[in-house]
Amino acid sequence: SAKAEGKATSQIFHAQMDVDYHYRQRLKVDLRHAISAGKLSLAFQPLLDIGTRKVVSCEALARWEHPELGQVPPSTFIPLAEEIGLISEITAWVIGEAALQCSQWPGQVGVAVNVSARDFRAIDLQGVVDEALLRTGLPPERFEIEVTETAVIEERDIASNVLAGLARRGVGIALDDFGTGYSSLSYLSALPFSKLKIDRSFVSEIAEQPRALSLLTNVARLGRDLDLVVVAEGVETEAQLNAMVAHTPIQQVQGYLFSRPLPQRDIAELISRLNAGSARQTNRRIG
Ligand code: C2E
Ligand code: MG
Ligand code: MG
Ligand code: MG
Repeated sequence: SAKAEGKATSQIFHAQMDVDYHYRQRLKVDLRHAISAGKLSLAFQPLLDIGTRKVVSCEALARWEHPELGQVPPSTFIPLAEEIGLISEITAWVIGEAALQCSQWPGQVGVAVNVSARDFRAIDLQGVVDEALLRTGLPPERFEIEVTETAVIEERDIASNVLAGLARRGVGIALDDFGTGYSSLSYLSALPFSKLKIDRSFVSEIAEQPRALSLLTNVARLGRDLDLVVVAEGVETEAQLNAMVAHTPIQQVQGYLFSRPLPQRDIAELISRLNAGSARQTNRRIG
């Protein structure tokens, strides 16, 4: 009967929740160990100038290879780190490591680091960034913080102080995943952002849907009107890139079309390859 079926389904559902619960508990224990043993690593994904196709900066993305479970995605372990109160240890480590790696890349390529809402209270972000820049000799103009709408709104007062302090030093402030959060636009001009990263959900349909392209175009114009560097995330196809070049004022692009996030040893090589050569070569298609 339908009722019996319903009961069976709900038992399966609860069994699954139980598995999830134990899985998460185990991951928390293992993550704590991985952090203290220095087992996290970084991958870097390039952001390219849409006109020259050269690498302008790279985003640092945390990676955790579990000895038995393999790669655990950051969408799983970052929230767990927040729950167990260890996110800021990750953030502080990422800031130091990203600055160090960036200082060894060829040319003037910058680096961007993601921060969580909790970091604004839990650590002295300005102090951690200052220390990393001092130690590596990286100029503040080559360092950037990425923060989501949700994070700045959750921690509005303290976030605005911390971000203002960083911006005064010359550190870039990017608003990440724009369009997926509250999209309460008032903070866009109230906070010291230098860059707007438009979420990939605004990009995915633009080659097929005129309305999607129109929406992306207008979000990009909004960013340009506020003097922000405008970036499109999640660019996966030539058709998407061509539509952006033809119709939007987007200045930088990031996505699988150009490169997946790469381990440290590969990113310097990619930068050398893409950024080398004459102005004529820079007009060549990447691929
Ligand atoms: P995010 O900051 O928006 O980073 C971009 C994410 O989009 C990355 O996922 C990247 O691999 C993915 N991506 C890039 N290009 C494409 C594309 O063309 N198509 C698709 N489908 N995806 C693309 P990843 O590395 O799994 O990270 C997911 C999220 O986890 C990040 O989103 C960020 O919010 C968070 N995260 C990663 N590392 C850190 C970290 O060190 N600290 C904090 N607080 N959060 C982090
Ligand atoms: Mg990001
Ligand atoms: Mg993003
Ligand atoms: Mg994202």
